[in-house]
Amino acid sequence: MEVIKITPRGYCYGVVDAVSLARDVASDPKMPRPIYILGQIVHNRHTVEELEKLGVRTMDGSDRLQLIAGIDHGTVIFTAHGVSPAVRIEAARKGLKTIDATCPDVTRTHDLIRELAAQDYSIIYVGKKGHPEPEGAVGEAPDRVQLVENQADVEALDVNVPRLAVVTQTTLSQWDTQAIIESIRARYPQAEVHNEICLATQQRQEAVATQSREADVVLVVGDERSNNSNRLVQVAREIAGRPAYLVGTAQDIDPAWLKGRRKVAVTSGTSTPTHITRDVIQFLEDYQPE
Ligand code: SF4
Repeated sequence: MEVIKITPRGYCYGVVDAVSLARDVASDPKMPRPIYILGQIVHNRHTVEELEKLGVRTMDGSDRLQLIAGIDHGTVIFTAHGVSPAVRIEAARKGLKTIDATCPDVTRTHDLIRELAAQDYSIIYVGKKGHPEPEGAVGEAPDRVQLVENQADVEALDVNVPRLAVVTQTTLSQWDTQAIIESIRARYPQAEVHNEICLATQQRQEAVATQSREADVVLVVGDERSNNSNRLVQVAREIAGRPAYLVGTAQDIDPAWLKGRRKVAVTSGTSTPTHITRDVIQFLEDYQPE
């Protein structure tokens, strides 16, 4: 098949740094054992399995305070998604060695929330419920931040204050976020908007929106728990108007998706290892559709 390789795609700087930090920790004999990662370091099971082989245990779950309750000694790595101050305090109280792999873009959002809260703002945080990034960000000022995920959440808001700010999660769809922000502005014209969708996420979404228009079908390589990979599928469907599917590996490709198609566009989420995307591209280049 003809394969359109969408660029940029795949690993972002935040993920590259987090994974390489975890590898360094695993190979450092001075680090107290056992070594844990609080949640999936990135939402990709291949990366998690690779680190398991190096002796790094993943504590799976999005409630990091609950996860840390199960650790008595050793080293704890905080993921690129960031953690709340309550988690840091609890790790220190337990005497755990901590390694912080929080992406600088997420740290910037945490700093922003703290600054806004200190200036007496109420904050609406647009993000995905149950995802670790909002948990960490909202935890910076839990009394001041309300998490909204969709229009129904916006309608349910009751925050009539003069100082109101809107802050977004880093990996949302720019188009969805815009619609939610417009609804918030319609209800609360005083709201100051801080769009924190990171550059890596924006560039990958824009690339899909423009480069997949010529394709008959779009495949996004990524884990089903990866928010930014799921958003790329959504952008391909809703913005580029193409049929689009999420695949973990080449084995997940359903031949029915390729039947009668000639051109397939491929991209991958910021947490997808490069070699898996390469395998998918190779599979498609060799594939003879019916
Ligand atoms: Fe950082 Fe963006 Fe990558 Fe998340 S997706 S790790 S915020 S660069």
